[in-house]
Amino acid sequence: MQIKVSKLLYPVLSMGPGRRIDIVLQGCSIASGGNPCYKCFSKDLWDANGGDSLDVDKVIKDVTEIIVGSELSGVTITGGEPTDQHEQLLLLLRGIKDRLLESNYPIEVDYLLFSWFYEKQFALRFSDLYLELDALVLGPYQYEKSQEQPLIATSNQELILNSNLARARYSDLSDMPRLDFAVSALDNSLLFIGMSHKDEMDKIKTMLSMRGIKLDYNSWE
Ligand code: SF4
Repeated sequence: MQIKVSKLLYPVLSMGPGRRIDIVLQGCSIASGGNPCYKCFSKDLWDANGGDSLDVDKVIKDVTEIIVGSELSGVTITGGEPTDQHEQLLLLLRGIKDRLLESNYPIEVDYLLFSWFYEKQFALRFSDLYLELDALVLGPYQYEKSQEQPLIATSNQELILNSNLARARYSDLSDMPRLDFAVSALDNSLLFIGMSHKDEMDKIKTMLSMRGIKLDYNSWE
């Protein structure tokens, strides 16, 4: 089975507690269905034909090797809308868990997912996926709502903790940075990973411009 992946980012500190891998899935049916979240800052992830089409087994192998090699403690799934690839995601999560178990990896890994759906709908439509996850950030991005908590982009969203591991790890996120930055010299790109505050990306763009760095393209306009 193939899965559409935009990027594998690691180690990431801003997308959940500890050192994590962020599996960024390609495609957003919410946006392509004509109802995108206003001021979405991931427009590059909307197109289901973008990204890389990869064999799920290969992604399982690669992600597991990264977790073990980089001594990570968490997996974060973002998009796009990850549930667009519900079946693939289920295989992926179960596969990673099995491989980590087989390799006797000594660090307990938690699994966090971000989705547009609120909990009731998510648990009904994707009950098998729901059970595989330790934590979920659920609800659409609503630009006008204030942002106060770590991991929550807008205040309508809810952080659901499904396991004792998540309840222990996510109870205090005060040390978690809000944004990671990565610069890729390969394709001259600048990557922002995490939760930006309202209009923060525009401010960053202005600051870069004042320093003579003009962005040819950005994913939030
Ligand atoms: S915020 Fe997420 S769900 Fe909303 S349009 Fe952007 S990628 Fe899609």
